[in-house]
Amino acid sequence: MPKTRQGSCKCGHVTYHGVQAEALMFRCHCRDCQQLTGAGHADMVPLEAESFRIDDTCRTYEMTGGSGRPTYTRFCPVCGSQLTRQSDRMRHLVYVHAGSLNDPTCYAPTKSLFPDAAQPWDTAVIGTVPPRRAD
Ligand SMILES: [Zn+2]
Ligand SMILES: [Zn+2]
Repeated sequence: MPKTRQGSCKCGHVTYHGVQAEALMFRCHCRDCQQLTGAGHADMVPLEAESFRIDDTCRTYEMTGGSGRPTYTRFCPVCGSQLTRQSDRMRHLVYVHAGSLNDPTCYAPTKSLFPDAAQPWDTAVIGTVPPRRAD
């Protein structure tokens, strides 16, 4: 049975919903995620792009992703909360930030992406040993 997920930004100006996709939930430690979130990593839940709906008042920031293709980040223009990440490389999926879900308890990540880029103080790396301190 398809699981519909709902979420919103902090201030409630932007809401979204979509069906959870059969793809990996992951934690990403890359520098892009560190800079975009202002934290050590991003926690992402995949939804099916076909089912995904979001208020068109949200803003989109376009950048070049690790794949060399455009990647899009949607955020609230009022409170600045980041809501989604989508890549040209995987157009059928929209990743939402786990913390933006109305019920974030469904987040059960099984993989860390770019664990080598994790900051030494970001110790909750999934499935790997804690990151080593840079020399
Ligand atoms: Zn907002
Ligand atoms: Zn990342």
